[in-house]
Amino acid sequence: MKKEDNFDIIIIGAGAAGLVAAIEAMRGTVKKRVLVLEKNPIPGKKLSRTGNGRCNFTNRNISAKHYNSSDKESLDLILSSFTFEDSLLFFSKEGIVPYERNGCFYPYSGEAKSFRDLLFLCAEEAGAIFTFKDSAVSLKKEGDLFRINTENDHFFANKVILSTGGLAAPDTGATGEGYDILSSLGLDLKKPLPSLSPLKCEGTFPEDFAGIRVYGRINIAHKGRVVASDFGELQFNKGSISGIPVLDVSSPAIRLFDEGERVKISLDLLPKDFEPSILLQDLRSDIRVKDALLSILNYKMIPFFLKKAGISLHDSLSDISPKKLKALFDILSSFTFDMTGYAGFEKAQTNSGGLSLSEVNPHTMELLKFPGLFVTGELLDCDGICGGYNLHFAFATGRLAGKALAGGK
Ligand SMILES: Cc1cc2nc3c(=O)[nH]c(=O)nc-3n(C[C@H](O)[C@H](O)[C@H](O)COP(=O)(O)OP(=O)(O)OC[C@H]3O[C@@H](n4cnc5c(N)ncnc54)[C@H](O)[C@@H]3O)c2cc1C
Repeated sequence: MKKEDNFDIIIIGAGAAGLVAAIEAMRGTVKKRVLVLEKNPIPGKKLSRTGNGRCNFTNRNISAKHYNSSDKESLDLILSSFTFEDSLLFFSKEGIVPYERNGCFYPYSGEAKSFRDLLFLCAEEAGAIFTFKDSAVSLKKEGDLFRINTENDHFFANKVILSTGGLAAPDTGATGEGYDILSSLGLDLKKPLPSLSPLKCEGTFPEDFAGIRVYGRINIAHKGRVVASDFGELQFNKGSISGIPVLDVSSPAIRLFDEGERVKISLDLLPKDFEPSILLQDLRSDIRVKDALLSILNYKMIPFFLKKAGISLHDSLSDISPKKLKALFDILSSFTFDMTGYAGFEKAQTNSGGLSLSEVNPHTMELLKFPGLFVTGELLDCDGICGGYNLHFAFATGRLAGKALAGGK
């Protein structure tokens, strides 16, 4: 590559969105010079870690209702241009055979690394040029061209696709330069905050709860109103809770907490549709309450909840009043405490906030105020729940930007 060359397109970031943007941009019949600038020595470092190393790349239930975004109208347009069927077709063209589990799609190999390798190979074979180990630090317009300054160099392009990702998992390369570039252009950003992240609740339960997993519902309440709710396997940690349902409600909880609001977390630890009277009618009355709870709760949790309800470890069912028993089931169905904080970007799978979707043309991802500059993926104010939604959004936006620049198709 000659450094003084101008490129037709420069894509900043060879992650999920950038790789798909490169493939799509090269698909047009008009020959183009496309450069992909990546700060890491390898492409798609985060992509290769997704889905516990298995890459949950899309979901059968893709829809705007599974995302947090301040502009759902634009989001609807973006998602309708790349449905889950479109995603399967797009990736099958690149040689990815899918495997479905509970609506979530993975590559059949179960290998996020091979998914990443295949996307990289496709982009390279299509003719995209990659440069690694150099980070874009600023971008400005010089005449008709965009000038990108990197740590070691500078490059010129007619069009730029900004695909640097956000701030989640900084050790994968997500350290926020994309936001700095957008801010330097005078664009307003909604404060980026961790999303799909554990919630802190220090001092709420004993430390020996750490490692316990139970099925249950989590409700996030603000000023007496439930703002988010989910059911599934909850995990207790030292001073925090996690598990898919916790991650799924973390985005609104963290935003409210960050704004200084009091956020209440309430856990329903009883089985779905649990009716205490049905359990009690079949039980021996001389059974100890702590033993009656063994098949519902982890044994380490029982003394804590019995104490809260004023029941001794030695009490049998016949020893306690119906009022106390009701108090116990009320506590278990609504174990409520204050959120005390949230884990940082290091533990988050994505971030909320960023550039509003109303700043881009949802058919192309081009900035309305800066024609020729396109923004994709995690940089945008749109974060999904667990299940392939975030990668789907990154791919959808990368594809729209690449397609808009492909030309001559
Ligand atoms: C542990 C983990 C598991 C996850 N699992 C899933 C999952 O199974 N399914 C799902 O849908 N989502 C998952 N996600 C979320 C998903 O990975 C992200 O939403 C998605 O990767 C965002 O894509 P992106 O292209 O916007 O950013 P990234 O994939 O982060 O790509 C950005 C790229 O830009 C590069 N870059 C950054 N700054 C610069 C710069 N200044 N110059 C040059 N290059 C730069 C980075 O090094 C990186 O390669 C997971 C995230 C994590 C952390």
